Amino acid sequence: MAFKQFDRVPNHYAGEIIQQIKNFRQEEGKRSLAPTRLTIGQLEVLVPRHFGFCFGVERAIHMAFSALERHPDRDIHLVNEIIHNPLVNDDLRTRGIRFLYDSDGQRQVPEKSLSGDDVVLIPAFGTTLEIEASLHRSGVDTSSVSFRENYDTTCPFVSKVWDRGEELGREGFTIIIHGKFGHEETQATHSHTEQHTRTLVVRDAEEASRVADYIMGRTSQDAFVAEFGGKWSQGFDPATDLDRVAVVNQTTMLAEETQQVAGILREAMRDRFGEDHIDEHFADTNDTLCYATNWNQNATKALLDAEPDVAVIVGGYNSSNTAHLVEICETVMPSFLISSAEELLSPDQIRHFDLGAKTTTVTDAWRPQLPTRLAVTSGASCPDVLMNSVVEKIASFYGYDQGDIMAGLSSLSLHEPTADVV
Ligand code: SF4
Repeated sequence: MAFKQFDRVPNHYAGEIIQQIKNFRQEEGKRSLAPTRLTIGQLEVLVPRHFGFCFGVERAIHMAFSALERHPDRDIHLVNEIIHNPLVNDDLRTRGIRFLYDSDGQRQVPEKSLSGDDVVLIPAFGTTLEIEASLHRSGVDTSSVSFRENYDTTCPFVSKVWDRGEELGREGFTIIIHGKFGHEETQATHSHTEQHTRTLVVRDAEEASRVADYIMGRTSQDAFVAEFGGKWSQGFDPATDLDRVAVVNQTTMLAEETQQVAGILREAMRDRFGEDHIDEHFADTNDTLCYATNWNQNATKALLDAEPDVAVIVGGYNSSNTAHLVEICETVMPSFLISSAEELLSPDQIRHFDLGAKTTTVTDAWRPQLPTRLAVTSGASCPDVLMNSVVEKIASFYGYDQGDIMAGLSSLSLHEPTADVV
């Protein structure tokens, strides 16, 4: 069986089943959002049109492995997790890359033990200017063209948000960042944007509504400060810095929610200043939304039209974009977030991450009886090999073997109809 050699990411992150599904979608229904149907006996596995590694993640991994290949004799460091996937991060650690900060932001490698001879990689989320300044003190020149081209894996779609934030900041807009305050990308965006203007981070539409209430004079400054104090840039003054606003996002947030946040704040500005003056007080930033996040989320929504009985979502437990895929799926069916096939403990037990409780839990009798329809997808930071093993293991729980899977792969089809076109 032909197996594609990856030119952008290492082959050991690929999986044969998933690769065949991808190959099929290159031939059939390339522009349709309909999921792919893999029929294994009485088990129907539905895979969304878009899933797994996005452009930015592939690029970051490609750059990390290129650095390993090119510099076998130099110490190589990553500022922190390159992406939110434990398999990829552990793989890089095993190959000798050291992480300067752990996932809680604690420094692991002292500033003075780095030198200009070391290779330092900046992750796909980007990093803060404070961390860049620390690298400079260690002798690492992050501003050189060579560094930007070879070691700065910041996704271009993240840099685009920073550039737009700068542009709008220069025009006098305060930047509202829709994101999770502690997330590396939100921290990086906050750090870069606050060089040019005031910034405020809001987590969701509910928080945006409370900012809107303040803008419209419906809540006191004390209440506003109590809730948002500390989630804004130095010198931010709610009394004067919420007259002109623009919304950008942590690129992995629900795109729909970012639009909702923007809509709520636009409405508040219209209420306060009138429709005739809206352009002076609210800037349209739709052009900063990440296409990959949009595609994965829209493809997952299209998957729901096929009415699966259960969904298994594969990805890191600290992966924001993966969490949003779970949220989409669990609106209509039992949905389980797992990091790998090892979490499929037995035919009847699954250990999965509970997003609400932020802990793993074990669920019994999670698997529907045959015939059944199972949705499987993965986040933008999840290697295909993990999703591949999950499909294999679930099939084996139903008594199906590799031969049955191969038979299914020879008759892949689209689960029509889904009229949307990407
Ligand atoms: S989700 Fe979008 S912004 Fe984030 S790394 Fe992928 S392509 Fe880049």
